[in-house]
Amino acid sequence: MITVSSLLDKEWHERYKRIANLNIRSSIYDLTNRCNLRCKGCFFFSSGEHKVAKEEMDIRKWEDFIDKEKARGVNLAILIGGEPTLCMDRLEAFYKRLPTYCATNGLIKVDRAKFPDMMTGISLWGGGEDEKILRGKDTFAISSKNYAGDPYTYYLYTITPKQVGKIEPVIKRIQDVGLKVHLQLLSNDEGVDGFHWQPEELRDIRFEMDDMLDKFPRTVISCKYYHEVITTGKMMGRSFGWMECPSVTETIDNRKPQPKRLIRFIRWASDLQTVHRCCTSATRDCATCKDGAAHMSWIMVNKRAHIRTTKDLQNWIEVYEMFAKLYRLIPW
Ligand code: SF4
Ligand code: SF4
Repeated sequence: MITVSSLLDKEWHERYKRIANLNIRSSIYDLTNRCNLRCKGCFFFSSGEHKVAKEEMDIRKWEDFIDKEKARGVNLAILIGGEPTLCMDRLEAFYKRLPTYCATNGLIKVDRAKFPDMMTGISLWGGGEDEKILRGKDTFAISSKNYAGDPYTYYLYTITPKQVGKIEPVIKRIQDVGLKVHLQLLSNDEGVDGFHWQPEELRDIRFEMDDMLDKFPRTVISCKYYHEVITTGKMMGRSFGWMECPSVTETIDNRKPQPKRLIRFIRWASDLQTVHRCCTSATRDCATCKDGAAHMSWIMVNKRAHIRTTKDLQNWIEVYEMFAKLYRLIPW
């Protein structure tokens, strides 16, 4: 019988043990319906998710809600929106109660005196020119000043098709300001001209991402198996999509057969009652979804399928380690 122990040598087994018991139960919270940017292709605004619920304004209701979430078993709160830093009191309510991750555009600086070790992921959509087209400004110029050298911050770099062959200078800029970076791919939810992926671009960007990992191993938080799965949409011969997606809100997940999924995962709207379909756009065609977190989780929840060969299991461990590093559950 093939087991974890039979596939791994001592060193890999130690790595496996380090992540095997993390038992993460994450959920996602829209902290607000507002943002200080309006990016073309933002899944939140393009799918109308900012209109489905009226934002709860009473901080005590947020505090009670977070306590209930904790009691429900959530041990990692992922805060998105809208722009979470527009609501520092809600941010603080989460941070005081739960391990918290804040996804921000980085234009507003989180006060480290109040949030000393809160993980912060700054969205970045390519080099300055792409950012001006898609987001209206070169956000890096501002966010890098706010967060340079911060040990609890990394860039979440959404690569667009126009970035193929050009990502190295972006990674280098990030390295030069003493931050780290995780890579994902644009899904182009608003159909911006020239920003749809072609098969050959996906092939090329996969190898470029691999190359960046080899060249900047201390800066890029990633692994090659993740690059393979996110660019091909394939894992162990299976295709990513609605019937495989792990990141669907549990309370409305009626899929049959039920795929392997994130246990207790819910994405809450900012009224603290409404839930969204999944971790990203409510209107996105799953066949076009390139969501990095969903692909990463897809691999992670399918451990059993990877207990097949040594290489398959090592791939799974590397993806899990990548996830754990992104939330600093293990050291960088
Ligand atoms: S900064 Fe984020 S939430 Fe705001 S519009 Fe851009 S992608 Fe959407
Ligand atoms: S859009 Fe993506 S994350 Fe959402 S259900 Fe579809 S495949 Fe999953």
